[in-house]
Amino acid sequence: MTTLDRTLRSFLLTELVSGFALTLKYMFKPKVTLNYPYEKGPLSPRFRGEHALRRYPSGEERCIACKLCEAICPAQAITIEAEPRADGSRRTTRYDIDMTKCIYCGLCQEACPVDAIVEGPNFEFATERRAEMIYSKQKLLDNGDRWEAELAMRQEADAPYR
Ligand code: SF4
Ligand code: SF4
Repeated sequence: MTTLDRTLRSFLLTELVSGFALTLKYMFKPKVTLNYPYEKGPLSPRFRGEHALRRYPSGEERCIACKLCEAICPAQAITIEAEPRADGSRRTTRYDIDMTKCIYCGLCQEACPVDAIVEGPNFEFATERRAEMIYSKQKLLDNGDRWEAELAMRQEADAPYR
């Protein structure tokens, strides 16, 4: 750009006018931004959010304490302890996930033979204290109870591709 061009642009305020024209043009177009947290964008059924432990419709825990999720977790975030119940079934007595270690890879979910541990649609679980990010079995089961309807829908939508 020559010095004459630059001088003319400065005097005629062409850049300012073109900036205002662009603003005016977008004032009448549909908004591309969302008013979060009141509006939320669509989520894929494969979105990997907060973990949950699911139950069967009877209320029985799905998890059979096979520990495949614990073995496959690359972050070693899962800790499981288990013992047989009086009826001979094997269940966990402890199922913790250290969410500060978790990298949300989804391998625990992939490894689970009974769709017990899943990553749900919830992404709003930030806290102010690290201790709150150590999820106990009860917390994970509560998450499962809270999100079960959506978790079941997600599993069904993804089933043809598994
Ligand atoms: S999502 Fe990945 S890192 Fe997180 S608990 Fe599951 S296997 Fe471990
Ligand atoms: S959550 Fe699934 S993979 Fe993990 S111990 Fe329970 S049954 Fe096994």
